[in-house]
Amino acid sequence: MGTIETRKMNFNPGPAALPLEVLEEARDSLVSHGKLGMSIMEASHRSPAVEELFRETERRLLSLAEAPAGYRVLFMGGGASAQFALVPMNLLPRGGFAAYALTGSFAEKAYEEAARVGRAEIAFSSKESGWRRAPVPEEVRSTPGAAYLHVTVNNTIEGSQWNGLPVTGGAPLVGDVTSCLLGRRLDLSKFSLVYAGAQKNLGPAGVTAVIAKESILADAGEGLPLIFRYATYLKNDSLYNTPPVHSVYMMNLVLRWTERQGGVAALETANAAKAKRLYDAIDRSGGFYEGAVEEAARSMMNVIWRIADRKLENRFLAMAEENGFEGLAGHRSVGGMRASLYNAVSPESCGALAEFMNEFARLHG
Ligand SMILES: *Cc1c(COP(=O)(O)O)cnc(C)c1O
Repeated sequence: MGTIETRKMNFNPGPAALPLEVLEEARDSLVSHGKLGMSIMEASHRSPAVEELFRETERRLLSLAEAPAGYRVLFMGGGASAQFALVPMNLLPRGGFAAYALTGSFAEKAYEEAARVGRAEIAFSSKESGWRRAPVPEEVRSTPGAAYLHVTVNNTIEGSQWNGLPVTGGAPLVGDVTSCLLGRRLDLSKFSLVYAGAQKNLGPAGVTAVIAKESILADAGEGLPLIFRYATYLKNDSLYNTPPVHSVYMMNLVLRWTERQGGVAALETANAAKAKRLYDAIDRSGGFYEGAVEEAARSMMNVIWRIADRKLENRFLAMAEENGFEGLAGHRSVGGMRASLYNAVSPESCGALAEFMNEFARLHG
């Protein structure tokens, strides 16, 4: 059996590290959940316990995300990737068009799905720069009449993030916030709809949170099959069919833990300090390490770097693993190294990684 002592320092990009306290609570309620006499996984999704779980999880998420009044949460399946398709299916009317800002490969996938559903236009792209930069808001082409403008707020694979949001010229703003929601503050009042697969900051995989203005959800996707309509989930409090109850249960535990950490503002401060440790190790290595993106675009959540002498990268990764660091290999499309610093990754792990980086550079530089 695994023990706490054998847990690694986990920098996986998603599924990602979960707080130990959450895992322990989940373990303790696995056989019987409170007075339920069974686990929450075995309870009917029509039972008061599950209805209350969904209501409570929605309340906590809205509150932690500082959503303005009039916003609701939908709990849906299919991951963030399903939202790449469901957003245009629900929000892009026939004869209309949607605008996309392309800042990385997830943004591009979202755009490609929209282009299969209807007309999609590119309002910005940093592909030619190898996704090394994020736009300043003014660089995004204004697209009057767009049904919405879609942005990917944190680019998990490339290691960049938006700082400031584009002016949409009246079009509703839609955000993929999978890898930054609850990791840093986000002004949700600027967005009509955001979505996040749970497996970065919210819990294990299996559920996706859609946070949106109730008014935009209520009449979206009129001609769609019911199971694909946001309105169906809204009307049924996400309990139209059998939902991923256990994933929502885990999210609820993670949200409680997030509250205990002092909420998003406190975590943002901690996350900025975590990221700074690693960016400092890169910047002070005298060119031994190279950051993967322009400094102004650097992500707080996913730190990506190369070793100037590429031949040393495999050695770095092997030695890191020997030293208990897990999940540092960059995405296969990017290479190099990536450390994902989601909320559950401790400052101590980040400090230890920074020291390991310094030591490796000293030995091989
Ligand atoms: C992880 C991630 C996705 C993909 O999520 P799935 O749940 O695997 O579909 C999409 N967008 C962003 C920004 C991500 O970080």
